[in-house]
Amino acid sequence: MVVGIIGGGASGMAAALAAAENSNIEVLLLERQARVGRKLLATGNGRCNLSNIHITPSSYHGENPSFSHYALSKYDVSDTLKWFADLGLYTVTEENGRIYPYSDQANSVVDVLRLSLLKPNITVLLGAEVQRIKKDEQGFLLSCGDASYRCDKLIVACGGLAGTKLGGSMSGYKLLAKLGHKSTKLRPSLVQIKTSWPAIASLKGVRANCAIRILHNEKVFARSCGELQFTEFGISGPVVFEISRDVCSADGSWNAILDMLPDWSDERLLKWLRARRETSLSVQELLTGLLHNRLGRVLIQSAGISMSKQCAELSDYELQSICTGVKCFELALTEPMGMDSAQVTAGGILTEQFDDKTMESRLVSGLYCCGELLDIDGDCGGYNLQWAWSSGRLAGHSAGKE
Ligand SMILES: Cc1cc2nc3c(=O)[nH]c(=O)nc-3n(C[C@H](O)[C@H](O)[C@H](O)COP(=O)(O)OP(=O)(O)OC[C@H]3O[C@@H](n4cnc5c(N)ncnc54)[C@H](O)[C@@H]3O)c2cc1C
Repeated sequence: MVVGIIGGGASGMAAALAAAENSNIEVLLLERQARVGRKLLATGNGRCNLSNIHITPSSYHGENPSFSHYALSKYDVSDTLKWFADLGLYTVTEENGRIYPYSDQANSVVDVLRLSLLKPNITVLLGAEVQRIKKDEQGFLLSCGDASYRCDKLIVACGGLAGTKLGGSMSGYKLLAKLGHKSTKLRPSLVQIKTSWPAIASLKGVRANCAIRILHNEKVFARSCGELQFTEFGISGPVVFEISRDVCSADGSWNAILDMLPDWSDERLLKWLRARRETSLSVQELLTGLLHNRLGRVLIQSAGISMSKQCAELSDYELQSICTGVKCFELALTEPMGMDSAQVTAGGILTEQFDDKTMESRLVSGLYCCGELLDIDGDCGGYNLQWAWSSGRLAGHSAGKE
């Protein structure tokens, strides 16, 4: 029996290895790019945050997030780490729960998967883009340009639309639509958010440890704490990714309130500022040593204070305005960046059309789906790759049963 797999990304490689555990099965993995795991190489800023020890069912989203529970509990984090260890990958867990390869390099993850695929019962075809799937009595006929391939069972692991430059595409949604499968609306998630604040470009590249509150129509919509990065158009970084899902998805005003010194009370900051007022420093240097220099200067300017002043000239009112700027900086948000910049696609193929215990289609027997293509997306921090490993292995083991 031949199990065909479309997509040599995280979930497709996991599915191939799982199906090939049955030595009576021939696995045919088709990848349209020139190498497998191209997107994986870019994950975790090149370090590949492959899982997280804090994974809970509530970390996953979609119209029916409970669809993900069976796969994630059958192939949970400890099982996944054992699987990787058996493949030869040594991993480390950081204090925040994120799991990375010990080498700190995403290519270690891609390499162990790629090398594990070198098995007598696995064939990997690169540069093979499946353009059409035909289901007939013998199974599936896959067309890739002039070539075509047959398989008895088929796993579609084409990934989502996010990260377009790394291979994200509509391909999987279109292939499955032709077989009767429906998709929800697709939206970018784990993505930077744009602001209308004109001075933002001057902060490009600045990082800050920050507590962030997102307000929708003045009401708190989401909160998070961690590293924030300013970009040319808006705000990014783990703290923003965590709450980017659904921000600006409804009409009304959207604002971010940034606290650049979350560990300090207003009183402590005011005391510190008053002590600085006793020095002979210029206002430009007021926040030097506390915040990134560029950020400090922008905050002072935004409080309406002239940069040509000396610290000693600042009034109590001006110190209070600077304190408010540092602890409660308000940015008007406009929209998230597009799919190009997103790490994951929110939305996808309707999960109700699949069996969560096997990942098999309820519409087409012998057809399976896994990974980001389905309407499941996780939080920031290794959750999406864990979904790719768990759902991929479940699909592979199910399809690999004779
Ligand atoms: C920049 C970036 C950083 C990220 N960092 C992290 C992180 O640190 N931790 C985390 O958990 N998640 C991260 N993610 C998300 C994570 O990479 C994805 O959720 C995960 O790779 C999805 O796995 P997948 O197998 O479903 O899809 P993919 O890994 O995208 O694989 C799909 C594969 O299918 C191929 N394909 C598509 N259509 C066809 C076709 N018709 N024929 C043949 N081949 C086809 C594609 O070329 C691709 O190789 C990141 C994403 C991005 C973009």
